[in-house]
Amino acid sequence: MTDLSRLDIKYLKGVGPKRAALLATELGISSYYDLLYDFPFRYIDRSQVYTISSLQGDSLPSMQFKGRFISFTTHGEGRKRRLQALFTDGTGTIEMVWFNRVKSLLETYKTGVEYIVFGQPKLFKNTYSIIHPEVDVYKPETAPRGLVGVYNLTEKLRNHYFTSRTLQKLVAAMLQAVDVGSLPDPLPPRLRARRGLLSLGEALRNIHLPASVELMQRAQLRFKYEELFFLELNIIKNVKGRNAKLPGFVFSHIGDCFNGFYERGLRFPLTGAQKRVIKEIRADLGSGRQMNRLLQGDVGSGKTIVAFMTMLIALDNGFQACIMAPTEILATQHYESISEMASVIGVHVGLLTGSTGKKERDRLHAALLDGSLQILIGTHALIEDTVQFRNLGLAVIDEQHRFGVVQRSRLWKKNSTPPHVLVMTATPIPRTLSMTVYGDLDVSVIDELPPGRKPVTTRMRYESDRQQVYHFLGTELRQGRQAYIVYPLIESTEKTDLHDLINGYEAVSQEFPHYRVVYVHGKMKPKEKQHQMELFVSGQAQILVATTVIEVGVNVPNASVMIIENAERFGLSQLHQLRGRVGRGADQSYCILMTKHQIAGDTRKRLEVMVQSNDGFKIAEEDMKLRGPGDMEGTQQSGVAFNLKLTNLATDGPIVEMARNDAMAVLDADPALQGQEGRRLDEHMHFLRGQQADWSLIS
Ligand code: ADP
Ligand code: MG
Repeated sequence: MTDLSRLDIKYLKGVGPKRAALLATELGISSYYDLLYDFPFRYIDRSQVYTISSLQGDSLPSMQFKGRFISFTTHGEGRKRRLQALFTDGTGTIEMVWFNRVKSLLETYKTGVEYIVFGQPKLFKNTYSIIHPEVDVYKPETAPRGLVGVYNLTEKLRNHYFTSRTLQKLVAAMLQAVDVGSLPDPLPPRLRARRGLLSLGEALRNIHLPASVELMQRAQLRFKYEELFFLELNIIKNVKGRNAKLPGFVFSHIGDCFNGFYERGLRFPLTGAQKRVIKEIRADLGSGRQMNRLLQGDVGSGKTIVAFMTMLIALDNGFQACIMAPTEILATQHYESISEMASVIGVHVGLLTGSTGKKERDRLHAALLDGSLQILIGTHALIEDTVQFRNLGLAVIDEQHRFGVVQRSRLWKKNSTPPHVLVMTATPIPRTLSMTVYGDLDVSVIDELPPGRKPVTTRMRYESDRQQVYHFLGTELRQGRQAYIVYPLIESTEKTDLHDLINGYEAVSQEFPHYRVVYVHGKMKPKEKQHQMELFVSGQAQILVATTVIEVGVNVPNASVMIIENAERFGLSQLHQLRGRVGRGADQSYCILMTKHQIAGDTRKRLEVMVQSNDGFKIAEEDMKLRGPGDMEGTQQSGVAFNLKLTNLATDGPIVEMARNDAMAVLDADPALQGQEGRRLDEHMHFLRGQQADWSLIS
């Protein structure tokens, strides 16, 4: 591998310096190795030669024909010049059209020579024509046959007459020039044997020039496994290294705080999932290594109580604990619910946010240092250096996707021994993805909602249904319920036709004069926001008009309607989070997705996922299928570059798991990769890091 990666692509037959420069800048291919590992992204079937007379209808796939050109004519002048050729296979004729290279094509193609042409026939005024077909002189021994790979190209390459066919030919030349069967295989033979994977040589040949559909699939499987295996090996090796480096406090004791709350404070039985997760956390806390655990649970699944009980374990062992929330509203809400729970067992809780006054701040600082304050709840204000704990044993971070890795690590530094860290998120990240994104975190999932929750009924409605929607909202309000209305914008500019909060607030106030309407948005002063929120939380206001600031955390069980304006503008995960604000009480709740009349097919599909499912994980998985993992909310900030070439994390879950298990087994047996096999794997990982600059970001 190393040798091939040093072999400049310009020396390959058919390349040369000019094409080499293009390949390097456009596709990142500069060595023999790069070209070998530039895989087709799909295949076309050229096993059949079709007859022109058999063509029927439009929207045909690309297909090939064998025959001769009858005539060539040119039309137009200068840049508009085009070449038309009439082609026959004896059963009928097709017109072929080219819009560039007219002169050179006229010199190349001849009448009377037998060609294979390939392209997509389009029906135009009752005759078929193909624009820019691929044309090869027919030679029985070299004619494209069977499955043919289609390679990625860029606009610039196309402008330089680089087609997928060009790449096919280069790869074919490469497979002639290099004896791929004798290349050292980066995958250990025993793993290949266990998983029934093709050898490197066979896989390289069959991924570029498949001998059959089955071999093409097996070649793809092998390379997916290969990229995932080294990805996982890299992640797990780093995690293991980190774990080995970071000892943690041992919380072995379960005492009065935990037991007292369990006996006197719990107002409902924990769900099975909550119990399981608390067990997983307890095991971490007792292990002697620093806990770095991600707690995933759909909105309303009851993460707060799990976090609280985890904090009680820290307290029972003589340590302090803190919770960091992304917004002031959320921190305050945590403060309220946690103070209430903590009062049962006489535990002191403090709240520190950006708007905490100097006097209170000083008091908190002192109480933290002398240890009389056991639990601190707050926003980013918590990570400021002025905040010093006597002995912070556990840090809980709510809603992970708002915090980066850097902020997490600042929390670690609050002690000479880093505190245990529990990260909570409602962003349901599919398992396959979380394993790769949060490679450094262990994952616990609360996959069960507390009993008695009714799934939210979700509907799509158009602008023309607005009166009907208001009518429905009125009937809910008359029954004493509350409602949220969410807007994509605070104030509209002239250019958009989106609904905005300011206008919406006025319209809704007029429509419902007998109810109190309040509003919150991100540009309000925290105090004012707080005040408006409180009116809604306490039930004095019935309608809350808001932007997405209410997305996370807010808990008003009496709210039964969520109306989302311009729902087409929101991502699926975001819609799911918003919908999670309702359906928290015993009443049937509703989510209404308002859209303009004409929305794109993809958008409609996305919104229909919402109508059909209340399951956050399923929604996230659909989201990933529709948009690809790179776009998933919650992944952008994690600093992960997804440069997997073949693997689709949404659909290749089983292969991810297989590769991960194998990588783990390898590292369990040889943690530092110093054995014979280990050293070779380690070398290959180094090689891969050098190949792809982005790779190193993954750890
Ligand atoms: P989230 O996971 O979205 O943060 P919360 O922790 O805010 O969810 O819990 C949502 C609501 O469910 C709260 O009112 C909480 O008291 C309640 N809850 C939590 N666990 C249970 C349970 N096991 N049984 C009944 N209600 C529960
Ligand atoms: Mg929460």
